[in-house]
Amino acid sequence: MKAEIGTDIDKAAQLLKEGQVVAIPTETVYGLAANCFDIRAVSTVFEVKRRPNFDPLIVHIASAAIMDELARAIPSAARELAATFWPGPLTLVLPKREIVPYDVTAGLDTVALRMPNHPMTLSLLSKLQFPLAAPSANPFGYISPTTAWHVMQQLGYMIPYILDGGPAEIGIESTIIGFDVDAPVILRYGIITQSDIEKVVGKVKSRVHTSANPQAPGMLDSHYAPKTRLCLIQANEEIPDGYVAYLGFQQRHPTIDRNHQILLSQTGNIYEAARNLYAALRQLDEGGFECIYVSLITDASGEAQAINDRITRAAQTLPTN
Ligand code: AMP
Ligand code: MG
Repeated sequence: MKAEIGTDIDKAAQLLKEGQVVAIPTETVYGLAANCFDIRAVSTVFEVKRRPNFDPLIVHIASAAIMDELARAIPSAARELAATFWPGPLTLVLPKREIVPYDVTAGLDTVALRMPNHPMTLSLLSKLQFPLAAPSANPFGYISPTTAWHVMQQLGYMIPYILDGGPAEIGIESTIIGFDVDAPVILRYGIITQSDIEKVVGKVKSRVHTSANPQAPGMLDSHYAPKTRLCLIQANEEIPDGYVAYLGFQQRHPTIDRNHQILLSQTGNIYEAARNLYAALRQLDEGGFECIYVSLITDASGEAQAINDRITRAAQTLPTN
């Protein structure tokens, strides 16, 4: 089976109703979606991604009202965050109701919910009687896809349909917020920053480096990684001779061949950098380089922190899978 890439929302809806998995566009990255109540469809998602079964999926919903059908004991801070940021790149981890299968939550008593901000996927969700469990549409541990073609290249032989919504607008995964009793805790950095969150609910903590803790496996130290070795360096640090590439933020490296360099944003725009990050890593990964050198963004903003988090994880060695 070779996937078809298309823009037929009805066709995607039909396949999902039949229990098939379909790649869907979102503003963060492309997702690999299944009916969240259909355990067989959900298990297909894990098989296609070769995702370990301890890593839970995010459930995508059509509106904030559906939160109450899937989650219970919802803190008021969660409602305020949903009201402020949905549809958008924010995921809320809440105590699950019985109706949500443990297959989706990897055995956890919590469920991760998000209302994505992409017109095609919102339209798709509105045609379905069920929410969509959807992790990023990439093989486990590899770089997340930000175009339909990225999905085709890696999972095209295993799924029937890729709904093409154009390049992802945000380009990195959602910010994830959990709750310690009722106090919000950031579990994964994203384009919605700590200060964005604090403007709505006051001071929040973050707990993003617990790689051994299956509460939040998207935070495994190694993640989002290319196959080529990725080495972190300072922006102007000397690079030993060799067939190597450089991924920078705004400034080129002084000694590397210009054709072997990609800048994430020539104008220093952090949103553009996030949007370009994964496609740039993929492009360099295909270049057959011995090593890709990469510098972190030296900017104190929360958005830079989210990008640097992805770069740092990509620079760790691949998990065994
Ligand atoms: P992905 O969309 O591929 O980035 O994967 C979803 C990520 O959401 C997981 O790897 C976890 O980090 C996070 N997640 C999903 N469900 C939960 C949950 N119940 N508790 C904590 N984190 C979760
Ligand atoms: Mg992922």
